[in-house]
Amino acid sequence: MKDSYDVAIIGGAATGSAIAYFLAANPDFDGSVLLIERDLNFAHAATSLSASAIRSQFSTPINVQISRFSHRFMMNFAETMQVDGQAPQLNFHPGGYLFLAKNRDQAEILRQNHTVQTANGADVVLWSADELAGAFPHLNVVDTRCAAPAAPPARTISARAPVPTR
Ligand SMILES: Cc1cc2nc3c(=O)[nH]c(=O)nc-3n(C[C@H](O)[C@H](O)[C@H](O)COP(=O)(O)OP(=O)(O)OC[C@H]3O[C@@H](n4cnc5c(N)ncnc54)[C@H](O)[C@@H]3O)c2cc1C
Repeated sequence: MKDSYDVAIIGGAATGSAIAYFLAANPDFDGSVLLIERDLNFAHAATSLSASAIRSQFSTPINVQISRFSHRFMMNFAETMQVDGQAPQLNFHPGGYLFLAKNRDQAEILRQNHTVQTANGADVVLWSADELAGAFPHLNVVDTRCAAPAAPPARTISARAPVPTR
C-alpha cells in the first residue's frame, strides 16, 4: 500500500467498483486508485440487497442511455472481467419489466416516457390493456389502462400507445 493515491473511492459495491474499473480501464487515466470497503461481505450494501433487476423504462434521456450502456456491459460482463481465463458469471435471467397505468394521468406518463425511451434507442413497446391481456392471459387487466413491458431476452416492455377509456 502506498502513502498516497490520486483517487480514493469510499465503498466498493456497484458504484465504487464501477468507478474503479472504468478509471483503471481508461487509457487516458494513469493515476493510482485506492478502493476502500469496510465490509467485503457486502452484507448491508444496497447492491447485495437489491432485486438486481435491469430496466430501460426511464423518463429522462440520460437514464435511458445509462441503462442501455449498463445492459450492454452486463451482457459482456464475463468476457470483460475475466482474469487469467477465469470469468465471473452473473447468472442473468432475462425476464422483462412491466409498468402498468390504471388511470388517464398514469397512461399519459407512460406515453410520454415511451417517447423518451424510443428516442434514445430503448427497445420498448406500449400496449393497450387488451394487448397486455393477449400477451399475458393470466393477468387481470380490469383496472389497467395500458402497460409498458420489456420482453425477454433483453427487452423492456413499455405498453404501446394505450388509449384510456375511462
Ligand atoms: C431493496 C432494494 C431493492 C433494489 N432493487 C433494485 C433493482 O431491482 N434494480 C436496480 O437497478 N436498483 C435497485 N436498487 C438500488 C440499487 O441497489 C442501488 O442503487 C445500488 O446498489 C447502489 O450501489 P452503491 O454502490 O452506490 O451503494 P451500496 O451498494 O449501498 O454500497 C455502498 C458500499 O459502501 C460501503 N461503505 C459505506 N460507508 C463506508 C465507509 N465509511 N468506509 C468504507 N466503506 C463504506 C458499504 O459497506 C457498501 O459496500 C435496490 C435497492 C434496494 C435497497
